[in-house]
Amino acid sequence: MEQETAMIIFDKVTKKYSEKIVALEDVSFSLNKGEFSFLVGPSGAGKTTLLRLLIREELPTSGAILFDKIDVPKLPNKLLPKYRQRLGVVFQNLRLLESKTLGENIQFALEILGKQEKEIKETTDYLLELVKLQDRKDLFPAQLSGGEQQRGAIARALANNPDFLVADEPTGNLDPESSFQILDILNSINRAGTTVMVITHDREMVNKMNNRVIRMEEGKVISDSKGSYDAIKKPKSKVVIEREITILDPNIKIGDEANEGLTKKNIKDSKSKKEEKKEYDKDMDSLDESIKKKLLDAQITSIDLILNLTDEDLDNLNIKDTERENLEDFLSEYLNKKQKK
Ligand code: ADP
Repeated sequence: MEQETAMIIFDKVTKKYSEKIVALEDVSFSLNKGEFSFLVGPSGAGKTTLLRLLIREELPTSGAILFDKIDVPKLPNKLLPKYRQRLGVVFQNLRLLESKTLGENIQFALEILGKQEKEIKETTDYLLELVKLQDRKDLFPAQLSGGEQQRGAIARALANNPDFLVADEPTGNLDPESSFQILDILNSINRAGTTVMVITHDREMVNKMNNRVIRMEEGKVISDSKGSYDAIKKPKSKVVIEREITILDPNIKIGDEANEGLTKKNIKDSKSKKEEKKEYDKDMDSLDESIKKKLLDAQITSIDLILNLTDEDLDNLNIKDTERENLEDFLSEYLNKKQKK
């Protein structure tokens, strides 16, 4: 069997909007690459907050959030747009642009990504076919049924070819037939390799599938099981995954209290280990020599590790402002290339 790799990890995440409003409390779970899961729970349970933390619209009060080894809360602002392009989000209330046709809505999303005309046309046609709306391309959103609008929104969320698709209540207010079509489409997107999470109240939809169901109540994950909406199985309360997360130092595990940033001491310690390990990610070769040297001296030997450096880390590494810009451009370009692959 193929080894399961975590795409998303929430480790003991707490989000307080204020002293009294605790939207998430000690939430831990992980989602594997290629998985299809449901996130269920009553209104006010914290589902939307969880989504907003993942897309870095909000920061956690405590705990760790990782997306494909990227430490989400620490991601530099400049890299946020690139990061978000790896996620496809179908928001609950986000409607298609009313003044544009369905086709134009999708084309617009592709234009923003800087795609060329030919690719825009081909991808738009492909996405419309995927959601079975080829013949609705020239209609305006108001001319589409609720289910068709939802499918259109899914197609638009897929424009950037995301690794992870999350849909918030995609079948809310839809009849069973339309809900089934949506589910069918989400399933085929998942079979094609995209990790999918559906936030829903739709008991019938969840029960039709034999998928993982993460249930939240009052800011906590109270059950994590497979199969039915109502099955209750106690989630793991500690760190879900014991695998090593290379945030800054490969020897520090997620949740380790010592992992509080790349302190001067860490750098010194890593320097003494320098001789033991010289291997580094070949993608780093095109980095400016002086920056590369500073990073490698501190045992920062992969792009994943670079992506997780905070401003404070960069200060400690003595990376100057001009070098910082250079590094951010390099990372931007790297993520761009990675996305095109
Ligand atoms: P759900 O999506 O499961 O309905 P939410 O994540 O929207 O739950 O809300 C969880 C809790 O956090 C609720 O009590 C809600 O009132 C509160 N909350 C959500 N957003 C904010 C905010 N921006 N400021 C203050 N409280 C908020």
